[in-house]
Amino acid sequence: MRSVFFPRLVNGPFDDPALYVHLANRGEALLFDCGDLHALSTREMLKLRAVFISHGHIDHVVGFDALLRAFLCQDAELLVCGPPGLADQITGRLSGYTWNLVEGYRFTLIVREWGESGGRQVRFRAGNAFLPEEEGLRGCPEGLLYETVACRVRGVPLEHGGIVSLAFVLEEPLHVAIHKDALERWGYLPGPWLTRFKDQLRLREHEVLIEVSLVDGGSATVELAELADRIAHCERGMKICYVTDAAPTDANLERIAGLAANAHFLVIEAVFSHQELERARQRSHLTAQLAGELARRAGVARLLVFHHSPRYLDSPGLLEAEARQAFEGED
Ligand SMILES: [Zn+2]
Ligand SMILES: [Zn+2]
Repeated sequence: MRSVFFPRLVNGPFDDPALYVHLANRGEALLFDCGDLHALSTREMLKLRAVFISHGHIDHVVGFDALLRAFLCQDAELLVCGPPGLADQITGRLSGYTWNLVEGYRFTLIVREWGESGGRQVRFRAGNAFLPEEEGLRGCPEGLLYETVACRVRGVPLEHGGIVSLAFVLEEPLHVAIHKDALERWGYLPGPWLTRFKDQLRLREHEVLIEVSLVDGGSATVELAELADRIAHCERGMKICYVTDAAPTDANLERIAGLAANAHFLVIEAVFSHQELERARQRSHLTAQLAGELARRAGVARLLVFHHSPRYLDSPGLLEAEARQAFEGED
């Protein structure tokens, strides 16, 4: 399958959590957790459309100010999603600065909280000195936090030392594979029209006419369904899971195995070695072995572990190797 999501950790596995996911052919990106963001350029930050924060511990939100700084003068809207309490935490962060002389600024921050007891949405407009404007409860059926024609993100609550830490599932609703040889046979020139074609296919607008660029110059108009028959086939969309800061409880392990089922890519914390399971329990984190076992049980295709405790800095490959062995080991 040709990737439509290009995920990468912003920092090394011992540093703050932040997973940057570039969306192919859209010039857009999503961010999962918001730890130290110094490694991201302003240009990369400004591609962000939504940020998903697992929970309010400092290593997961400390980069928020860098985002705010980058977006402040932009005519843009940024969605930040997270567990209950996030809007108050953001209110606190925003009230730590002076906001006179921002009249006419157009940037808007929307904070969407979601937990099992319900949802809440708060709008913060730069032009209104970032005063919180309550938008009331917002339903997020099955934890659906964000949805566009190209992707959707669900949140799944996990227990983390008495608070909720949200895991996230990023999915492509439907994967449209293009047959390159068919493009050549029909004399079609690949270009931005292909993204429009895929979007319309996902919207099931079968009678829509698509303007197709031709190799010989000019363009042709083809009905969507006809075009699909000629050049494409549909398959299950790509699925990426991001899981961090979860106590090693049976209930959490069940949930993680369920949410990660058949994922193409699982990014999951491996904070301690399994030899320190007791410490992992006390600190409400997963061990590397548990991360690998979960990946194996869920049948994921690729595994990436991160959020290592600095206790293992002297043997930096240990947790990765432990997780990999549990993931790939013999039955
Ligand atoms: Zn953490
Ligand atoms: Zn935490």
